[in-house]
Amino acid sequence: MIRPSAKVVLRPGRDKPLRQHHPWVFSGAVGRLDGECDDGDLVQVCDASGGFLATGYLNRRSQIIVRVVSWRSDETVDGAFWKRLLERAVRGRASLVQDPDTDAYRLVNAESDALPGLIVDRYGRWVVLQCLTLGMAKHREELSALVASVVPAAGIFARDDAEVRLKEGLSLQSELLRGDMPPDRVEVVEHGHRFLVDIRRGHKTGFYLDQRENRKKVASYCSGAQVLNVFAYTGGFGVYAARAGARSVTNVDSSADALALAEENGGRNGCSPQEMVVGDAFQVLRRYREQQRLFDVVVLDPPKFAASQSQVIAASRGYKDINLLAMQLLRPGGVLATFSCSGLVSADLFQKIVFGASIDAHREAQILEHLAQGPDHPILLTFPESAYLKGLICRVW
Ligand code: SAH
Repeated sequence: MIRPSAKVVLRPGRDKPLRQHHPWVFSGAVGRLDGECDDGDLVQVCDASGGFLATGYLNRRSQIIVRVVSWRSDETVDGAFWKRLLERAVRGRASLVQDPDTDAYRLVNAESDALPGLIVDRYGRWVVLQCLTLGMAKHREELSALVASVVPAAGIFARDDAEVRLKEGLSLQSELLRGDMPPDRVEVVEHGHRFLVDIRRGHKTGFYLDQRENRKKVASYCSGAQVLNVFAYTGGFGVYAARAGARSVTNVDSSADALALAEENGGRNGCSPQEMVVGDAFQVLRRYREQQRLFDVVVLDPPKFAASQSQVIAASRGYKDINLLAMQLLRPGGVLATFSCSGLVSADLFQKIVFGASIDAHREAQILEHLAQGPDHPILLTFPESAYLKGLICRVW
């Protein structure tokens, strides 16, 4: 067994979160660093009296100064270690891997798969690797080879262009790591629906994989409905709604490129032409209210409104405004499917915001379903921060 020689020693009384397997060490909890080591290297984390707590990788530039990779003092962090974790992550998704109707899903979800800072997504024959932290970035080539040995792939593409990397002192780039370059658009299948995904330039790693199960659930309310799909991106909810028998689908997004792909996705699935509206969702919904346009189902899947604690109040106002507008556009008995992917807005706070919107809209709303991210984005019990996507399906009278 080889243990890293450098030690991060915590201040007295700051070891409780680590003892409960929370994988982050905040810089404020650290008393001192014993020994020499570079940022990105492995260190031992010890309590104030020098007792071993965990092994993790260090980055003094980040407020999260250590991210834990192992809780065992007898474990060596080497290639075999990473491979075991990758295999475990794939094993945990066996039902998805075997599903002939879905070939796009998350294989590794960072901290919640005990691989902090590492995202691995599968899109058909291609795999996208994303290293969000310096510790993972240092192992990128090794991880890419190990992923290739665990998952068959035509090519592995690195999407190292997520903004959070800047907090780690990393640059932003995207490049091919192994195998063949993915085409401009990769066709994937999700519950039997076909989608073109731009894995080189699309949002996140190309597609909002976390909404897969929710798209299916929302579709079950769409038969015969006039559906308004707000923050539509490449038309995920719209395609599901149309194939579930929606009478009409109107997609709204500020990105013309995303809606162009949404149009193609509609065609690929044999959907009748859908309305595509490029614009700011708040303005478009206000215009519809003035025009007294009404819908049977409204889907609201906005981008993250709160990226830091200081933005939570403004974000709450944004969520309330858009939910208020959506309720005003629903026929009595219509369905609102509303989401928030802001980790800092808890499920409880989100429900209160939607409640506030219903009061101001003078509409009675019943919660039919509570939704969350799909099971390929698991929530680690010891790491509540991994629960970020929440949604409500409400009937609005
Ligand atoms: N529902 C989508 C994912 C939505 S992601 C799916 O299932 O795939 C959020 C989307 O909101 C992005 O496509 C982004 O372009 C769009 N967006 C961001 N701000 C917006 C605004 N003010 N008005 C309209 N669309 C916006």
